[in-house]
Amino acid sequence: MRTGITPAEALQIVLEHTPLLGAETAAISDARDRVLAEAVRSTRRLPPSDNSAMDGFAVRSADLASASAEHPVVLEVVCEIPAGGSAVRTLHAGEAARVLTGAPIPPGSDAVVMQEHTTRDGSQVTIGVSPKPRAYVRDAGEDVDVGDQVLDPGALVGPAEIGMLASLGRSVVSVHQRPRVAILSGGDELVEPDGDTSGGRIVASNSYSIAAQCLEVGAEPIYLGIARDEPDDIERRLRAGLHADVIVSSAGVSVGDRDFVRGVLEKLGCTLLFWGVKMKPGYPLAFGRFEAGDGPLVFGLPGNPVSAMVTFEQFVRPALRKLAGQRSLFRPTVCARLAHRFHKQAGRLHFVRVDLERISDEIVARSTGNQSSGVSRSMLLARGLLIFPADASELREGDTATVQILDQNFLSAPTPGFS
Ligand code: AMP
Ligand code: MG
Repeated sequence: MRTGITPAEALQIVLEHTPLLGAETAAISDARDRVLAEAVRSTRRLPPSDNSAMDGFAVRSADLASASAEHPVVLEVVCEIPAGGSAVRTLHAGEAARVLTGAPIPPGSDAVVMQEHTTRDGSQVTIGVSPKPRAYVRDAGEDVDVGDQVLDPGALVGPAEIGMLASLGRSVVSVHQRPRVAILSGGDELVEPDGDTSGGRIVASNSYSIAAQCLEVGAEPIYLGIARDEPDDIERRLRAGLHADVIVSSAGVSVGDRDFVRGVLEKLGCTLLFWGVKMKPGYPLAFGRFEAGDGPLVFGLPGNPVSAMVTFEQFVRPALRKLAGQRSLFRPTVCARLAHRFHKQAGRLHFVRVDLERISDEIVARSTGNQSSGVSRSMLLARGLLIFPADASELREGDTATVQILDQNFLSAPTPGFS
């Protein structure tokens, strides 16, 4: 087992040991934010036939070659075709068909004149414009043709993909499985949110923030409850998580007298690959895997609420995204301008919780206050995590630094951008 490694080394080890989950079939209404595990080819043309882009009249453009406002041409309206209707009749010279938007245009016609440029009088229509061939005609297959590979494996399924799948007649689709994450809190001081907090007890809030972090990334949390600081209880609960894809436990992985999690994990057959990452918050982070079969990846997160959330962000979140087949594993980063000086001891990389603000064309970062790993408010107010490099001890006001964006809402604009 390695110890005292850098965050970059730790991330590399985590991702090296993170597989891609298999595929399953999902209804398209359940497929949003999941990753395609198949190539989607079309077996149909979209649109299925040449059809009208306007309410108007389908015509033979040659009939109107000489038409103008001064010398309009009169055509005989021989049929009416609504959207969903069929073009049963071929158009001959001097004839027009009344068409509504989306209606197939009849054989023989090659253009549509919009209603606004026509005057209807009984079975006749008077047209004072000369349309180009294919004007206001949507060609069959111009969107998608038979055999087109419309979606690639690995594509993220969003609203446009779901609309396309529906148009192609696909009610179900193959997507990567959602990672199942077993979550354990450990500590004699911990109770559930409605529990008795007398005698210095605190709520096992990590379980809830971690479950929410899982949901945010599309993973399915499975709650293993609160383990007492006793090896037997920890073991019993961890066993219940062995069928999951990932186990995330918080607390009990440090070097305290009652930190039993590491020992229990090893007893269960988990090989710890590292413990201790040179970062702040979050040094006492453990990662391991079960060698036998397809056992879960195991993250032993530090117990302090901020450390737990930050280490989840840096290591568990990318692993969950990789398991789910996502191609982009990391948060967006920006180069932010510092509103004030930041300082620390050189040695460990710090993830500083910062608020972000867009000021003219720049993104400005300022500390969310007390950066102690027990101060949850620093996380509550954080819109980003500022990377304060290990070697550095000072970042000056006005310098720039890389910030991982946790909450993009600060970019939301006061207006829609048009007026
Ligand atoms: P430990 O790693 O057990 O030494 O825990 C470090 C700190 O995190 C202690 O102050 C614990 O009370 C706190 N802590 C541990 N687990 C949780 C949890 N699930 N939710 C909130 N705080 C916790
Ligand atoms: Mg503890």
